[in-house]
Amino acid sequence: MGRIPFVCGNWKCHKTIADAVALVTELKNTLGMATRAGTIDVAVAPPFTAIAAVVKRLEGTQIGVAGQSCHWEDQGAFTGEISAPMLYEAGARFVILGHSERRQLFGELDQAVSVKTKSALRAGLSPIVCVGETLGEREAGETMHRVGAQLDGSLAGIGAAEATRVTIAYEPVWAIGTGRNASPAQAQEVHAFIRGKLAAMYGAIATGMRIQYGGSVKPSNAVELMAQPDIDGALVGGASLVADQFVAIARAAIEKGK
Ligand code: PEP
Repeated sequence: MGRIPFVCGNWKCHKTIADAVALVTELKNTLGMATRAGTIDVAVAPPFTAIAAVVKRLEGTQIGVAGQSCHWEDQGAFTGEISAPMLYEAGARFVILGHSERRQLFGELDQAVSVKTKSALRAGLSPIVCVGETLGEREAGETMHRVGAQLDGSLAGIGAAEATRVTIAYEPVWAIGTGRNASPAQAQEVHAFIRGKLAAMYGAIATGMRIQYGGSVKPSNAVELMAQPDIDGALVGGASLVADQFVAIARAAIEKGK
């Protein structure tokens, strides 16, 4: 299969610079060696203000840093926005795009996700593109339709060569921050659908593309989720704020990568 598991912690609007440095210091001490073996990719996505300090503290480790969003233009009159080249300059190498909180709370549409993804790729960042259905869509039997449409829209105009640098995060909206995760079987079903959709879009390279699961991943469910054949890691919210919990989830991915 050849896919290296990838676990990313999404800190959202949490952690001052001092708190962020303290958390990654713990990660560096516990995970630094494990990730060096090349069996897993690990990244954290602090708030913008803490990125540079976190990058500095993680120097010498294989733990990467991600932005939580970016603008689609490199620069301009866009008050409050951060561009992909700015993230890259600060040391980030990944960026989370189209997170359901961006979509639901800030009105981000697939078309915006697509131009942001292009901008991130241009800047040298590896995007993590989030998709996922709401509870209403799942109950109406529209999960695959919704996720398929989000993939079509969010990856519009992105060719196969660039797609190899994209990670997809399947995050059912009803599972994010609710404590209610998708069952491993439910998640695998959608991941297999996404893999098939990527194969239809990009051909053989889809087998090498990573698809993370996100939505209430915890140490207690990580092993079972990671055991699914099309789950290649996790995008972790709440549990990534606590070093022991994030490390335990990363270790579940390390086991999968062996
Ligand atoms: C997320 O925000 O991407 C997420 C998955 O959050 P949580 O793990 O808290 O459900």
